[in-house]
Amino acid sequence: MRQDLGLKLLDSSPKKPFDVERIRADFPVLSQNMNGKPLAYLDNAASAQVPKVVIERIHEYLTKEHANIHRGVYYLSQKATTAYESAREKIKRFINAREAEECIFVRGCTEAINLVAYSFGRRFIENGDEIVLSQMEHHANIIPWQTIAEEKGARLRIIPINERGELVLEEFENLLNERTKIVAITHVSNSLGTVNPIKQIISIAHKFGIPVCVDGAQAIPHFRVDVQEIDADFYAFSGHKMFGPTGIGVLYGKRKWLEEMPPYQTGGGMIRRVTFEKTTFAPIPEKFEAGTPAIMGAIGLGAAVDYLNSIDFEAASEYEKELLEYATEQISNIEGVRIIGTAKEKASVLSFVIENIHPHDIGTILDQQGIAIRAGHHCAQPVMDFFKIPATARASFAFYNTKQEVDRLIEAIKKTVEIFS
Ligand code: PLP
Repeated sequence: MRQDLGLKLLDSSPKKPFDVERIRADFPVLSQNMNGKPLAYLDNAASAQVPKVVIERIHEYLTKEHANIHRGVYYLSQKATTAYESAREKIKRFINAREAEECIFVRGCTEAINLVAYSFGRRFIENGDEIVLSQMEHHANIIPWQTIAEEKGARLRIIPINERGELVLEEFENLLNERTKIVAITHVSNSLGTVNPIKQIISIAHKFGIPVCVDGAQAIPHFRVDVQEIDADFYAFSGHKMFGPTGIGVLYGKRKWLEEMPPYQTGGGMIRRVTFEKTTFAPIPEKFEAGTPAIMGAIGLGAAVDYLNSIDFEAASEYEKELLEYATEQISNIEGVRIIGTAKEKASVLSFVIENIHPHDIGTILDQQGIAIRAGHHCAQPVMDFFKIPATARASFAFYNTKQEVDRLIEAIKKTVEIFS
């Protein structure tokens, strides 16, 4: 049976082939040389590049629309407010949230998860409770939970992974009980590329009445996510990984949770009434957006969503999958290379180690060829511990990468092996 991965099924009717060269022309960064070679940007899991339309939208905002929002009675402020709130509406439609108010603008995925951990944790987690995470989480989806668990006297329970880097789902259900207050889990692993069967995970947790907070940082740039379809209670992601600017991200949360949760930060813009005796708070989303938000970032992110809607995102997603399969096949033929993360369902990420060569050396030699990859523990040290390695080299693809870039990557890896032998 096909695992339910929270991906929308792709239409099987014949389509025009995905025109990667046309897409590449939308991204000014990609046409540069690095170290005298054409840039092959393969670090998209860290941060994706930004299309011209997003850059132009930010420029337009700064040159014609900038003012603080929600406060001014004058035209410019109202214009900025409309642009900011229309970005929220775009996000709502993009992830199919029920209401725009369920989409909170935050600084990024890290802040989104911190918001849930501290706010949900303060309200719902008590001494003796349990929080379920998995072995493949990014530190951003571990440490906030660890911190609130320490504060409250709760404990973390961990879903194990297997040698392919897949969750051991049989163990998951055994971890759930009446003390479990929340499951916090990634949709796609940034270090392994594994796509988790998120809809199934959420449905298992819901059978026990347990809410699920999904780290969607590595899913949202690669395939369509429908938060209602997967029935996520919370879904966190970053703008800069989905072709938008840095400093902006989104926490989607079901209204019923967000309304019960206390504010995460307090200050201007999030109140109904303040006296020295007592403060009452604004409704969502303002309750969770204290202070002046990243107005420019939100508008830029709205433009990134427009961009994704303007291309055939389903075709882009399929193209990217083929690229990853091609790269996996090619790298498998190089002696001494071991792929870390060989799950059946993967997105974007090709993590690997080479016998007797440190990943940082691989990264440095590839850089000399104009190829940008990431080397390190990828903020996933428990994954490195599981595979008993300190680090991996990681190439991560976006829909603007090409087969030729994969070929260059493979050639450069072969050269690295040669140098070190
Ligand atoms: N979660 C995952 C799976 C990630 O890959 C990342 C970043 O790499 C994050 C969370 C944190 O994202 P940010 O640094 O944009 O807050």
